[in-house]
Amino acid sequence: MLAELKGLNEECGVFGIWGHEQAAQLTYYALQSLQHRGQEGAGIVASNGREITSHKGEGLVTEVFSQNQLDQLTGHGAVGHVRYTTAGGGGYENVQPLLFRSQTGSLALAHNGNLVNANALKHQLERQGSILQTTSDTEVLAHLIKRSGYENVKERVKNALTMLKGAYAFVIMTETELMVALDPNGLRPLSLGQIGDGYVVASETCAFDIIGAEYIRSVEPGELLIIDDEGIRSERFTYATNRSICTMEYVYFSRPDSDIDGINIHSARKRLGKQLAAEFPIEGDVVTGVPDSSISAAIGYAEAANIPYEMGLIKNRYIGRTFIQPSQELREQGVKMKLSPVRGVVEGKRVIMVDDSIVRGTTSRRIVNMLKDAGATEVHVMISSPPIKNPCFYGIDTSTHEELIASKNSVEEIRQIIGADSLSFLSVDGMVTAIGRPDTSENKGHCLACFTGKYPTEIYPDTLHPYEKELTH
Ligand code: SF4
Repeated sequence: MLAELKGLNEECGVFGIWGHEQAAQLTYYALQSLQHRGQEGAGIVASNGREITSHKGEGLVTEVFSQNQLDQLTGHGAVGHVRYTTAGGGGYENVQPLLFRSQTGSLALAHNGNLVNANALKHQLERQGSILQTTSDTEVLAHLIKRSGYENVKERVKNALTMLKGAYAFVIMTETELMVALDPNGLRPLSLGQIGDGYVVASETCAFDIIGAEYIRSVEPGELLIIDDEGIRSERFTYATNRSICTMEYVYFSRPDSDIDGINIHSARKRLGKQLAAEFPIEGDVVTGVPDSSISAAIGYAEAANIPYEMGLIKNRYIGRTFIQPSQELREQGVKMKLSPVRGVVEGKRVIMVDDSIVRGTTSRRIVNMLKDAGATEVHVMISSPPIKNPCFYGIDTSTHEELIASKNSVEEIRQIIGADSLSFLSVDGMVTAIGRPDTSENKGHCLACFTGKYPTEIYPDTLHPYEKELTH
């Protein structure tokens, strides 16, 4: 499904590199491959070992950077970021990496995720005299690092990280080193790779492929990597960890050519589709997937059900960012511009339409209508994940209970609202089994909170949307 239409948005992608003379240029290419994780702002900070330069702006990576600007970002280290605007709102000052300069040196920060205790920490910092420059919660870490009493930067970073709660994949750079940290639950994906004698880290492994880097391994929950001219060291800022990777990364967010913990996303989605066919066998003439993220699951369903897979919906790739607007009204208007049914494929057919998730239901309703207007005799909607009943506090903009259609409607009620002939959601166990992580822990290494309501961290009252707060009173 198209992220900007669904109302389910990833907030960010991060990238870091140390030990390559073309660091900023490679970061630029890597950010382009992470562009699906955020289209509203992009930035690169580079270091030549003595001084730091930066450039960032609102818009797509290609809009923010010219070759001239990249040429000025010299050095063998760089940090990059692409951003989707939700936590802390938009505006230039919130575009990352955030860069803080002081007498003791510079600190560049790029963050993917969301801190659940950011407001509590901001209040505490302001009481202690800190002046926050942005509304983003990422800046909290910079102040905690600066305020920590330890002598060396590494110990200050470790100390500061232990105060954070929630989801964070951080890439931090000073003039002389890159530091990489993943939260104790490992909620967001973060991988380590190698390029020549240098090292790279990225939210997704597709960023490695585009620059010719070799994947080494995932960064581990609670791990702090320190990368400098001497090489790479792995340390821990906590041992109290419990891997809970965002399941929606497998289902929907990550690119099909990325791997998370050795599991390829396209293959995982195909297995989700096969599992869906096993749980809900149904008669149909043609299987189609909603582009782009549902196509792998649709192929899996078609293979398992022995029904032909066809391109029943196509995406207009040349609709610009103008239509990516935060307002729901504009999102809905955008559906018609971005997706078109293929009449020759669906006319007179019983269509099995596979989609990865339903958030508000408005987009599904429009797509079902679109297929019926194009002549489909029946539209059976198959969702390759369970109903999303709970909001996410870890960096995914899933809105509130109030806006989530599955939090207040049964499957049958949703079917009626979207106008489908049938509607089926994959079971939680089926989804976890199909993804196939090898973890032996109770949660099999997954965060499943938006489906089950069991959050892997505590949730602070001031993290909640005003509507959610009312519910808890
Ligand atoms: S609540 Fe859902 S969207 Fe959020 S991190 Fe967990 S699995 Fe991902």
